[in-house]
Amino acid sequence: MTLPVPVVWSEDCLRHEPGGEVWLGVRDQGTEVPARALVLRDALAAAGAPIVPARPHDELLLRTVHDPDLVDHLAGIWDAWSAAGFPADYGRDRVVPYVFPTAGLLGGLPLRTPPAVHGRAGRFCYDTMTLVGPGSWAAIRGAVDAGLVSSGERLAYALCRPPGHHVTRDAYGGSCYLNNAAVAAQALLAAGARRIAIIDIDAHHGNGTQMIFYERPDVWYGSLHVDPGAGWFPHYAGYTAERGAGPGEGFNRNLPLAPGTGDDGWLTALDALCAEARALGPDAVVVSLGLDAAATDPESPLRVTEAGYRTAGRMVASLGPTVLIQEGGYDLPTLGALAVAALAGAATVAHE
Ligand SMILES: [Zn+2]
Repeated sequence: MTLPVPVVWSEDCLRHEPGGEVWLGVRDQGTEVPARALVLRDALAAAGAPIVPARPHDELLLRTVHDPDLVDHLAGIWDAWSAAGFPADYGRDRVVPYVFPTAGLLGGLPLRTPPAVHGRAGRFCYDTMTLVGPGSWAAIRGAVDAGLVSSGERLAYALCRPPGHHVTRDAYGGSCYLNNAAVAAQALLAAGARRIAIIDIDAHHGNGTQMIFYERPDVWYGSLHVDPGAGWFPHYAGYTAERGAGPGEGFNRNLPLAPGTGDDGWLTALDALCAEARALGPDAVVVSLGLDAAATDPESPLRVTEAGYRTAGRMVASLGPTVLIQEGGYDLPTLGALAVAALAGAATVAHE
C-alpha cells in the first residue's frame, strides 16, 4: 500500500523536551513527548507516505497571527532563564511560571513586562503545564514551518510538534506554544484564498484558534470536542454560545460532546460541522487533526476508533484542498495507526 499524502516535518520537532508538566501542583511525566513525532513519522513512512522536510520560513506571517512580543518571548525565555542561573543554581531545569497577569490582578493597570525573568515567565503563558527547555524554540519554529506546506497541494499533512491550537494571539498554554494551524490558515489567505474553513477534531477545544479568528469572517472555525463544562481543558472556552463577534459573528461553531462519545456521536457532529463549512464555499480547509479523541488516549474520555478517524479523514478532505495539521494524540502504541487511518481516509477523496 502506498499512502499518497506528503508528510511535512522538521527534525527540529524532536528537540523540544518539556520534561513533564506541572499539573495541579505536581510535576508529572507528561505525555507530549518527542517519541510522538517519531511514532507518527515511522508509521506514515511504513504506509508509503513520502516524508518531506519542512522548508524554513521567515517570521512575517507568524508575527501577523501572533503578538510579536509573544514570539520574542518564546525565542528568548530559555536563554534568559538559563543566564539567571535557574537550571544550574536552583535546580529549575525548565521554565515554569508562577505568577500570571490576569485581568483581575491588573485591574486596569497597564500590562508591564517585569525585568526579572521569573516574574515575566508568566507574561504570555496561562498555565503551569507548558514548560520551556533548551531545545523548545527550535522545535516550536520547526512545527510552524512544517505547517507551511507548499501552497497548491490538494492534500498534505504537517507533522507539527509541539501542537498549537491552544495558543491565542498573545498567550500560550495547553502544551502548545505557537498556533501552527492559524499560521497555516493565514498563509493560505496570503496565497490568494478568500475564505478558509478550519475544522478542529482534536479531543479538546482549540481555544487559541477560535480566539485568533473570533472577529474575522475570512476564517471560519468549527470544533468538536469534549465538553469543557464536564470538567475538561480548556475549561474557559469551547461552549456552544461562542459564535464569533463583530464581523466574525456566526463564523465560529462549537459542538461540545459528552464524555464517552464514540464514533456515532462524533461523526454525526463532524457531519454537521462539514455541512456548515461546505455552505461557506471555502477555498481551502485546515484540519486540526488531534488523534486524542481515540478510545485508547489517556488525555480524553472520547471513544473514537481507527475506523472513525478514517471516515473523518474522508469527510474533511471532501470539502476542498486540505492541509492536515497534527495536534494532540498521546497513546504511543496506537498513534501511528490512527494517523494512517485518517490520512488514508482523506486520500480516498483526493484521488477520486
Ligand atoms: Zn487535545
